[in-house]
Amino acid sequence: MTTRKPSFSFEFFPPKTPAGMEKLRTTRKQLAQLRPEFFSVTYGAGGTTRDRTLETVLEIQAEGFEAAPHLSCIGATPDSLRELLDDYRQRGITRIVALRGDLPSGMVETGEFRYAADLVAFIRREYGNQFRLEIAAYPETHPEARSARDGLINFKRKADAGADSAITQYFYNADAYFHFVDECEALGVALPIIPGIMPIYNYTQLARFSDACGAEIPRWMRKKLEDYGDDDLPSIHAFGLDVVTALCDKLLRHGAPGLHFYTLNQSAIVSTLWQRLGLR
Ligand code: FAD
Repeated sequence: MTTRKPSFSFEFFPPKTPAGMEKLRTTRKQLAQLRPEFFSVTYGAGGTTRDRTLETVLEIQAEGFEAAPHLSCIGATPDSLRELLDDYRQRGITRIVALRGDLPSGMVETGEFRYAADLVAFIRREYGNQFRLEIAAYPETHPEARSARDGLINFKRKADAGADSAITQYFYNADAYFHFVDECEALGVALPIIPGIMPIYNYTQLARFSDACGAEIPRWMRKKLEDYGDDDLPSIHAFGLDVVTALCDKLLRHGAPGLHFYTLNQSAIVSTLWQRLGLR
């Protein structure tokens, strides 16, 4: 693992409404005080949030912070990607979270970019090193991978296509992460793999996300969260803060090269985590 200064970053989704944009500005103001390395902004697969992602990224840049748009390639063409990437370059965007994405319902054509590795290779071929590229990693195995081994080999392929670093899907079992990092190292994958951290906001939402993305909520946590139910948010938040603080602390103590927080456009829980971890 790395001895470089840890990298901390915060992820947002692009709001749909002016009220959501305003709320995100307030969230950003609070999180900006923590001086993250960068903020990232998600992208609806198939380009559904293209304009809102860019608008949010530009606002963040104008506030003096680095902002990385996520970019999913499923359904894209070389021309549509060139148009977008040229625009990004002109606007001074230098970091991208490069993804395959999932097909939006009703869309059946994947296009010629079937995997994120195709996108990484395309950007490196056409743009050289003009963009820093982050890719997604799955310590608990991506739900579509035929096996854990296959998922790992596919991850290596994507890293070898020219990625600079990786951000993981969230997990609550630190051993899954350490094991994945060890396996990557054994395969010669040398890029930093930053744990993605999902604070616990409410149980129903977390269970829905986890079912969709294959991130495991350990049974003991699920049982505790079920006991609280969604009506008892203070208890859920207190429990979630204890669990996630312990997870982050363990990850950092054992050499994780940083943390990427899935903020869901909220600042309070992440700020409390930050204080509890004693991060600067
Ligand atoms: P890939 O790396 O292409 O992998 C997808 C699947 O294909 C995996 O099962 C992999 O094992 C398999 N695979 C890869 N290459 C091959 C091959 N050559 N042959 C056979 N199988 C192969 N989604 C969004 O829509 N918007 C976002 O903004 C977004 N942000 C994300 C941020 C992070 C940090 C993470 C972890 C995920 C994010 N996602 C986002 C979700 C992501 O798009 C999905 O998990 C998607 O299903 C896979 O994307 P990927 O880039 O990991 O795909």
